Amino acid sequence: MAAMSGPLLRAEGLTRDYGGLRAVDHVDFTLQEGEIRALIGPNGAGKTTFVGLISGRIRPSAGRVRFMGRDVTALPAHRRMRLGMAYTFQITSIFANLTVWDNVALAAQARRGAQGLAEATDAALARVGLLDRAGQVAGDLAYGHQRLLELAMGIAQAPRLLILDEPTQGLSDPEIRDFVALIRDIARGATVLLIEHNMDVVMQLATRITVLNFGAILAEGAPEEIRADARVRAAYLGG
Ligand code: ATP
Repeated sequence: MAAMSGPLLRAEGLTRDYGGLRAVDHVDFTLQEGEIRALIGPNGAGKTTFVGLISGRIRPSAGRVRFMGRDVTALPAHRRMRLGMAYTFQITSIFANLTVWDNVALAAQARRGAQGLAEATDAALARVGLLDRAGQVAGDLAYGHQRLLELAMGIAQAPRLLILDEPTQGLSDPEIRDFVALIRDIARGATVLLIEHNMDVVMQLATRITVLNFGAILAEGAPEEIRADARVRAAYLGG
């Protein structure tokens, strides 16, 4: 991979309107390679819409997205994925009737084609500890294992940028601990952008935090700065 100057990702004036509602409002946003960036904010702040605009699942009303120096604003999600942007599929997009292995193989294939597919699939499953369940039907997995399957599907794409939407939602404390370790491990080889409501997880993982409120960036900084920010506390952390 050629050396890249400048940030991994840059959003400029990113905006999305739904009728009269502006869900994302002229957001300028930069991600440097190697970061674990947490995106936080109250319900309805625009977090899911924002990562949808980044990943290409949602089209912007205005603004641009650059990834690895290239303007990808006009590219659909599957083209951005081939460039190295992975968005963890929600459980709803796991194929419940297929095996665990086939789900991961499909995700891997979308990025890299047939070459090295079996190895990449096995490696991703081993990474999340699901290799011994590879032959199981995905729909039969316990909830926590389905969330790990999603993560394996992201890893199998060998992304430069891995976007995770509430990865620890609904997990037990021990499962969350494992997830935090796993995401830290993944972040050694990829930049991570995660939406996360669990502030313990955010504080443990994030190298930098962006706070969205009413579709705009309210604050951005290191975890300790954000924790101490009076505006963030008022809008989000409950005092
Ligand atoms: P949460 O933390 O609850 O998931 P969020 O920060 O991810 O919230 P979004 O889901 O991005 O917020 O929603 C931002 C705003 O845009 C909300 O007011 C929401 O109702 C609205 N919105 C999101 N998607 C649509 C849509 N497809 N059509 C109309 N309005 C939408």
